[in-house]
Formats: sequence, structure tokens, C-alpha cells
Amino acid sequence: MYLDRTKTQLVCRHPTIAIIGGGYSGAAVALHLAHRGAAARVIVYEPRAELGRGLAYSTSDPDHRLNVPDSKMTLFSHDPLHFRHWLSSADLPRLPAGSATLAGDIFAPRAVFGQYVAAALAPLLAAGRIEHCRASATSIRKQGAGFAVRDDRGQVQKVEAVVLAVSHPPPALPPELRALADDPGLITHTAGEAALAGLAPQDRVLIVGSGLTSADVLATLMRQEGRAPVHVLSRHGWRSQPHGPKQAETSADFAAEPASTALALLRKVRAAVRAEAARGITWHAVFDRLRAQGPAIWAALPLPERQRFLRHLRALWDIHRFRIAPQTHATLCEAERRKRAVFHAARLLGAERQAGGLLVTIRPRGARLWQSLTVDKVVLATGPAHAQVIAGNPALAALAGQGLVQPDPLKLGLATAPDGRAIGQAGPVDGLFVAGPLARGTVGELMGVPEVTAWAEHVAGQILASLPSPATQG
Ligand SMILES: Cc1cc2nc3c(=O)[nH]c(=O)nc-3n(C[C@H](O)[C@H](O)[C@H](O)COP(=O)(O)OP(=O)(O)OC[C@H]3O[C@@H](n4cnc5c(N)ncnc54)[C@H](O)[C@@H]3O)c2cc1C
Repeated sequence: MYLDRTKTQLVCRHPTIAIIGGGYSGAAVALHLAHRGAAARVIVYEPRAELGRGLAYSTSDPDHRLNVPDSKMTLFSHDPLHFRHWLSSADLPRLPAGSATLAGDIFAPRAVFGQYVAAALAPLLAAGRIEHCRASATSIRKQGAGFAVRDDRGQVQKVEAVVLAVSHPPPALPPELRALADDPGLITHTAGEAALAGLAPQDRVLIVGSGLTSADVLATLMRQEGRAPVHVLSRHGWRSQPHGPKQAETSADFAAEPASTALALLRKVRAAVRAEAARGITWHAVFDRLRAQGPAIWAALPLPERQRFLRHLRALWDIHRFRIAPQTHATLCEAERRKRAVFHAARLLGAERQAGGLLVTIRPRGARLWQSLTVDKVVLATGPAHAQVIAGNPALAALAGQGLVQPDPLKLGLATAPDGRAIGQAGPVDGLFVAGPLARGTVGELMGVPEVTAWAEHVAGQILASLPSPATQG
């Protein structure tokens, strides 16, 4: 609690922290603020009905599964098995058959993980230690030492600190699909109940992108009786890899003497994979270690090397690091075997509506001639357009207009200092923090729950340390 001397000596109130975005990142920061006993009002601005779900955990499709086993999904870094224990508690939601693997890992529907986060937040919401403001922030302005947050109901809240947790914007329309921009056959949003409902079994479908979103779409479509073949397009034809066997940990170490170039890193990884293979350990363990040591590895790469990594190695990194649930992998393999899913390694050249449907032209990898596909629907599964997050979000655009946020040099999100503060035109901005994947440019790997949790814990600590204390204010 602190004295607000700008109004009257008698006004005494807690500082207020506004968290913009109540997906997993915003919810995790709120939870850790509350758990650390923050003497602050914590308001989460989130238009969705429930906190913690965001883009990833709002799906109700039981075949949209976690791509990480239960033992690695936790709200508390010090307790990696927290989600696993919750799953085996009395509140256990019904898991669909086949959620557990023979090795004992559970790959639950993502909706269940959303329930887990909601269950952790429920007592804090009930006690008023976290408030859910079911609105979108439309503008954030610097005001004195704090900020004024305006929402889409027209209400303005004065706060001492702001956390930006608005991670995933919609995908960007590739220039080759521009002619379909207003065409009802183009599906750009794949999340949510209604998104795929318009795809009838007889529809000829092309999915652009072959990552995890594409896998979700395929998992839904493959349940349809009499489903027409689905075409899946990606430049390299690479797909997210499945998980490996249960095995010993790798002894590979990338943090003690971290590589200072992307090439040196690649060589180290190759050498480690070879050495571990000789001990019967698969590449999965090496990539798990890379992920765990991600911040140290990233910190040692100068900016041009980070750019080089993203240019040359990102696609490879993504398919090994973003693994797919075994159940989804089995569905995709079976669909490919039965020719219900056809994977193309090809470049998209263009698309237009013609009498018989949408004519899409592609050039297969390594070929000189183009091919055409006629489909009824094109589904965009190229992933969130993080480089456009500021332009697409009025609250961020307002901050950028005041020079308080800017894209990070790699265009992965927002420029962020190691302590979590947003970096504006004049340097780190006091009281303004970035949570979740938008801080990736600084942290390195910051997409999956283990890393997002650790960053949320760090940011919560930094916020509390930065708030005015009763001693200094009184
Ligand atoms: C499809 C998908 C599946 C994934 N699966 C896994 C997995 O299995 N395992 C794993 O470890 N990781 C997974 N991840 C990664 C990870 O969990 C996400 O990166 C994480 O959910 C990030 O959440 P977020 O809250 O930062 O962002 P988001 O989920 O994008 O949430 C941001 C929230 O901000 C809100 N918002 C935006 N603008 C405003 C505004 N102006 N005012 C108020 N609210 C606003 C939005 O409504 C949204 O709810 C997955 C990610 C995706 C996209």
C-alpha cells in the first residue's frame, strides 16, 4: 500500500498493475504476482471468457493435443510435475482414450491444460487478488510516473505498471494469396469453434504451412467421413518431428563455452548428435538440452549471428524443437499412407478464383515447371505474424506512437531488456514489461510453456522489485 500524494495525504491505495492479454503468459504473470503476495491490484485485460487460454488453449477439439508431455507442462518451474499431479487429482477432467502413451506420458487435449490454468487462477480471482477485466485495451498512454489504460468500453484506469502479454497476432497473408484476400474460400483464422466448421468433407482443401497449426487442422479434418484428400504445402516439405524414446539425459553442453556464430553452433549440435548416437541416445535429448540452455546460447550470439541463425536454421530448429504429439503423428502418417493427406515440398506462386474453384499454382522443390491444384478452400497455417504485432494491436500502436515500444531487431516481437522492461526509443521504460513470446528476440527460445513460465516468474519478480514501496512513499 502506498500514499498517493498527488491527490491528498489521506488517499491510500495499492499500486495497480495492468496485464494486457490474459492468455497463458498474462495469466502466469498474474498468478506469480499473486503467489508472491504482491501488495498490488492486479487487473488482467482479456476479452475472452476465461484467463489462461489465449490462442493455444481455447480450442475445444479433443484432437488438438499438447505437443509436450504432461511432465513438462507446469505453471511452477520449481515443480515440473505440477500439471501431472493435477491431472491425477480428484478434479481430473475426462481424458479422451489414447491420451497416455505406453511410456506413461500423457498428451492431453490442449483444452485440458486450459482447465488446469483456470483451476490454479480460480481461488485468486475469487479472492479478488486477480481481477479479470473482460475488455480489450485500446490505448495505453504514459501519465506521470505511471500509465493510463483505456479499454474498448471507454473506461480509463490509471496504473503504476503495465505488462504486455498479447503475443500471437493472426497470420500474415502471403503476397501470392493476395488475390484471395476477400474470397470466402480463404480461411485465415483456424482457432476457435467455428473456424473449421465451414470445411465440408467433400471440399478440396489446401493447407499452406506444415507446422503445428497445420497438424491441428489435419487432425480435425481426418475425422470427417468421406473426406476428400487434403493438400499440405510447405517450402521444404519438412514436418514437425515426433517425440523420441524415454532415454538417459545427454551429456552435451552448449552453455559452458557457447558458440559465438550460427555455424559454430550448428557444428557443435551435429557433433553432439553424432557422439550421443554412438551412446544410443537420440537427437531428441540433444535438442532438449539446447532448449534448456537456450538463453545462454542466444545471449552468446551477436545480432548478425542471430539473424544468420534465423535465416538459415530456423526452419530446421522449428521442426525438431516443436514436436508433435504421438497421437497426432500417427493420424498424419495414416492419412498420408491412405493418400487422404498429400504433402508437397513446393513454393506457392499464386492463386485465383476460377469457375471450377480456387486455382493455386505451385513450383515443386527442385523442379523448373509449375503445377496447378484446384481446391475449394485454402487454409492459412503459416503461424502468427509476430513482425506485425505492433501495427495490428491498437494498444501497442499507441505505445509505439509515444516511442515506448518498438520491434526487436529480429522482428520476433518487442525490443525487451533482460529485466523484462520494454525498450523504447530512449531505452528501457520503467513500469512497462513484456511477457511471453514477444520477448523472444532477447531471451531466445520463449514459446513453449516451460520457458514462458520461467520468464513469467522472472517478470513478476522484476515488477514487484520496481513498484513504489510504502517506506519510500510514506
Ligand atoms: C496453436 C498453439 C499450440 C501450442 N501448443 C503448445 C503445447 O502443446 N505446449 C507448449 O509448451 N506450448 C504450446 N504452444 C506455445 C505456447 O503455449 C504459447 O506460446 C503461449 O500460449 C503464449 O501465450 P500468450 O498468452 O503469450 O499469447 P496468446 O495465446 O496469443 O494470448 C494473448 C491474449 O491477449 C489477448 N489480447 C490481445 N490484444 C489485447 C488487448 N489489446 N487487450 C486485451 N487483451 C488482448 C488475446 O485475446 C489473447 O487471449 C502452442 C502455441 C500455439 C499458438
